Amino acid sequence: MVACTVRDSSYPLNASHARRQPISVYVDRNFVDYEKREIKFAFDAWTRASNGIVQFDVHWDVPKPYVFYKHEKPKADQGIFIWQLGLYDRSEVSEKLYNEYHSYHGLFIPGPNDSANILIFTDVVAREHFYQVVVHEIGHLIGLDHEKGHEDAIMYPHATGDCISKWDMKALCSIYGCSPRNQCVNIIPEGYKL
Ligand SMILES: [Zn+2]
Repeated sequence: MVACTVRDSSYPLNASHARRQPISVYVDRNFVDYEKREIKFAFDAWTRASNGIVQFDVHWDVPKPYVFYKHEKPKADQGIFIWQLGLYDRSEVSEKLYNEYHSYHGLFIPGPNDSANILIFTDVVAREHFYQVVVHEIGHLIGLDHEKGHEDAIMYPHATGDCISKWDMKALCSIYGCSPRNQCVNIIPEGYKL
């Protein structure tokens, strides 16, 4: 269903190299309302899973910093940006990038300093899986690697889990020093309709 990759030798992060708090993130203004809502749920879920240690300073409705088509790696002074991209849109994603990324629904690309790109290919992510892709990519952003052996983990390469599992929390807390819970942390609030 969903896949992504981490393309840098500096990942995953560890306890001596965790992201400074709060983490400043810029969100593409091209996301539609439900997507923004679910991106917010994703940030909140990671904050709850870390017992409040991981915090985000989110800047909403930000114009794209450049045309992605021409750039792959984040620029050093760009900060962390979550891109809304159409994988089939040749004005945004070149043929070459398409060929490289076409099996992905989301992608995390770390950059120099504190900069990073999170790409969400909204034209290939099904409505009901959008939040899983976003939670998974933010998991990479805060330093987590894949949980290859645990299909219920949100950091499973295919992000099939629907909550932040004890496996994810164990990895998270090894970086940020929180106490992992034994119970899954819900991402979508009760009563919210996907
Ligand atoms: Zn991944």
